[in-house]
Order: sequence, then structure tokens, then C-alpha cells
Amino acid sequence: MNPPQKMKSKDVVYVNGNFVPRAEARISVEDRGFVFGDGVYEVLRVVSGKLFAARFHNDRLKRSLDGVRISLSGADTPEGFVEVGKQLLRENGLLDGQATLYIQITRGAATRAHNFPPADVLPTIYISVARFAPYAEFAQSGAPAISHPDLRWGRCDLKTLNLLPNVLASQTAKERGAFEAMLIRDGVVTEGTKTNFFGVVDGSLRTHPTNSHILPGITRSVLRDLAREVNIELDETPIRAAEIPRLTELFLTGTTTDVMPIVSLDDKPVGKGKPGELTRKLQRVLAESLASGSD
Ligand code: PLP
Repeated sequence: MNPPQKMKSKDVVYVNGNFVPRAEARISVEDRGFVFGDGVYEVLRVVSGKLFAARFHNDRLKRSLDGVRISLSGADTPEGFVEVGKQLLRENGLLDGQATLYIQITRGAATRAHNFPPADVLPTIYISVARFAPYAEFAQSGAPAISHPDLRWGRCDLKTLNLLPNVLASQTAKERGAFEAMLIRDGVVTEGTKTNFFGVVDGSLRTHPTNSHILPGITRSVLRDLAREVNIELDETPIRAAEIPRLTELFLTGTTTDVMPIVSLDDKPVGKGKPGELTRKLQRVLAESLASGSD
């Protein structure tokens, strides 16, 4: 007799009010997310069924929606999307281990025209969850990065679907065997294609301040608070490209990246070419915070 088959988890997503199998989910070819990249999104980390820093993600989503002037209709709210996410985690059997929750809102589907569609066109809402495995090896050994011109627009503080410069820089990094591209605008390190950058120059930990040139990363802000708790000072003064040779430590932060040590930049070692002490300490405090969960 064959052993009993383990029930395969369902693959259910949420589109515009309905929970549907992923293979049956449908979005119009006229959706402005598809045609113009006209929308915003969030990615949340889930540990043992708990959403990490959900409140911060909700606030950022509201800010992104306001920033691109997308109004949610009726009862839709970022808090409601998180509840949908929780249901998806249950339905997809993702209440144990690690997962990610993806929330995307576009300006809806309408005949193609650059200006906004009529007011009765409702935003398209797409929410999904996926199994997630952290980058354990690179977190241990440290990862390589490259530098790359920052070719993005002037509102990088909004988490929009317009990711083409990020996509191209990320692909260049991959082709050069690197984990991430460090973006440089006007001689200043801004951030990565999907991460924020922190570095130690002359003994002080620095990162780019929050302004329109970077995404205000949730991990960046959680880590800033955690650093304060363990008496590590953070100076929000950008690192200039000219200071790169003086970096003794470098790391990234992101929802799916945690604290990731960067041990080489453009094929040259950073500091001693291995994860530094501050990086290790902050890696530990973030890991503890993730494990303890903050719903
Ligand atoms: N910077 C950019 C450009 C990003 O796309 C992301 C995340 O996707 C981050 C930084 C890190 O932000 P968070 O910590 O909220 O994931």
C-alpha cells in the first residue's frame, strides 16, 4: 500500500475582495499597474505566523498611497489588508516557519491614458503569501556588493512599482557575482536596490538620512531603535563615495535581508574582508527581535 500522501498546501491569493487559487487569479490587461507601473506595494516578514513590524508597514503603505494619490475605496484599509494576509497564511499552511506577505495596490484598470482614470475606477488590490528562507550562508560569511549609479527618480521615499532602475542595477550585480548594488547619486551612497546601506567610517556607524533619495526602510528604523538600546550610536550622515576606501564595516538591512554583512565592494575587501564587530552585534539584536515577534 502507498504511504498516505501529505496534503499539499493550497496556493490561494487575494484579488479585489476574493480568495482564489493563484492559477485562477485574473487581472485586466488594462490594469494601470501592468501598463504604467502605477501602484505601490509592501513586503512584510512573517515568523511563526506573526507579522513583524506590521504597524510600520501600514504607516508606510498609507504614505505611499497618499504620495501617489491613490485613494482606497470603502472599507479597504492597510490594517484590513494585514488581516487578509493572516487569513492567507492560515489557508496556505504558513503559520509555522518563515514567510513573506506581499500587498500591492494599483490605480485600477481603465482605457490607457496617462492622467488618472475616472473616479469610479476602483484600485486593484492583490495580496499573496510565500514560504521564505533567510540567506543563511551570506549572513554568516558576508556577501559581495558592487557600486552602481543611482538612476532613479526624485521620490525614492515612496514604495512604488516603478522598479526598473532597481531591476537593472540588481541584474548587473548578479552578473558580477554580487549580492547587491550600492547606489550612488551625486557622489553619495544612497541605498541598495532592495536594501538600506550602513557603514562604519572612522569608527562611527553611518547611514543615509531619510529623505526623498531613499526608501525609509522598516528594518533600517527598527535597527536604529535597537542600536540605541544597546548603546551603539548611529550618525545619519550619508557616506560619500570618496569615503568608501575608509569603510571598516559595511552592511545592508531589509525585510528579507535582515542585517547582511558586505565584505567586498567592487572586488576590494571592506575592512578586514570579513563581517565586523558592530555588524555582528546588530545582526544578533535584530535576530532576537525577529524571534520574539512584534505583531
Ligand atoms: N530600499 C529599497 C529601495 C527597497 O526596495 C527596500 C525594500 O524592499 C529597502 C530599502 C528595505 O526596506 P525594508 O527594510 O522596509 O524592507
